[in-house]
Amino acid sequence: MVSGDLVPHANLDHAATTPCLRRVHDAVRDVLPWYASVHRGAGFASRVSSRAYEQARDSLRRFAGASADSEVLFTRNTTDALNLLARCLPPGTAVLRFDTEHHAALLPWAPDSVVGLGMPDSPEAAARLLSAALRRLPAGPKLVVLTGASNVTGELWPVAELAEIARRHGARTVLDAAQLAPHRPLSMTGWQVDWVALSGHKMYAPFGAGALVGSPEWLADAQPYLVGGGATANVTANSADSAHVTWCGLPARHEAGSPNVVGAHALAAACDELTELGWDFVTAHEQALVDRLREGLAALPGVRPLSMWPGRPGVGVVSFAIDPHAGKTTDADLLAAALSAEHGVSVRSGLFCAHMLTRRLMSRTGAEPGPALRASVGLDTTTEHVDRLLAGLERLLLDGPGAHYRLLDGRWAP
Ligand code: PMP
Repeated sequence: MVSGDLVPHANLDHAATTPCLRRVHDAVRDVLPWYASVHRGAGFASRVSSRAYEQARDSLRRFAGASADSEVLFTRNTTDALNLLARCLPPGTAVLRFDTEHHAALLPWAPDSVVGLGMPDSPEAAARLLSAALRRLPAGPKLVVLTGASNVTGELWPVAELAEIARRHGARTVLDAAQLAPHRPLSMTGWQVDWVALSGHKMYAPFGAGALVGSPEWLADAQPYLVGGGATANVTANSADSAHVTWCGLPARHEAGSPNVVGAHALAAACDELTELGWDFVTAHEQALVDRLREGLAALPGVRPLSMWPGRPGVGVVSFAIDPHAGKTTDADLLAAALSAEHGVSVRSGLFCAHMLTRRLMSRTGAEPGPALRASVGLDTTTEHVDRLLAGLERLLLDGPGAHYRLLDGRWAP
């Protein structure tokens, strides 16, 4: 880990953004002397860059467990990837999605195309709601939007089961894998999902590179997501004031403009490193930490973990409300600020870009449906980080903020 060596904070906010892996850092350092515009020049650097860019697609394809003929479109992030797909839907496509989605997966679809599936109270209910909605829909193109792991509760969704129901009804599926990708192996062919969207900055690579991986169908015929150079095969004068354009095929069709070659290279390095580290290692490391975190939180009076489906396995993301009468301060934003300032622990407070879900889960705990706190672990998390959060939270609930300010010369003095 690169930043982990430098920052004395216990970073428990991996669900927002992860620090950079050493291998990713080195991959970027190695490509920097060579980066040049891809597919646009015969120069040596341009050819080296083009090769690195195309090889990055192979890494993404492998990482997603996608078939060899899958397309890999580089995007800025998951939000960008899902918006790209939303622009490529054939006319009249019905989009089925649960209200539990992150806004990136909740909002890109044309409002009159959306069939809302509510907030199921169990995985079985999710399957029932989806089947019933699909049965009611008339013939025509359909897209089911799924999430791999919730960014609020960490809970894993039954992706294979829901994708199977979708397929039985002739619907296509897209998986928001932003939170799943850093924690569990992806298996597009195993689950038979049509597209996966992910973000590099949530899987130990820097910002600005993500991907949409999957079927060329729908994408190949759609108007380009962005128009401009790189997406054009030929442009001729049509009349005095218009041009006749022949667009490229995939993937260039949806990658107009000079692409983020360094970002794609970094993302590919993260994919390769996560795979080589091995998912058994990643999951065992994170599970031990998240068990410790959950047990510690359960021992703190007034701390109420948010859960859609209690007992459901999940990734290392735990959100919680504080009972309004449980401590001197129960305001989530203030607690997050004090945890950082007084205990050197970074957590997130808020509604986590999933306002409907977070508010619903907050009110289930009896708390105000306002901001919650979220702690999330990753590869660089240690038991000391988790213990620091638990001890800091306990002190803040007992004594209120301001009582334990300990930042001395930029270092923590506990
Ligand atoms: N989906 C989920 C489940 C997420 O957690 C996030 C990021 N919080 C996104 C989508 C959007 O990711 P990005 O901001 O990288 O586009």
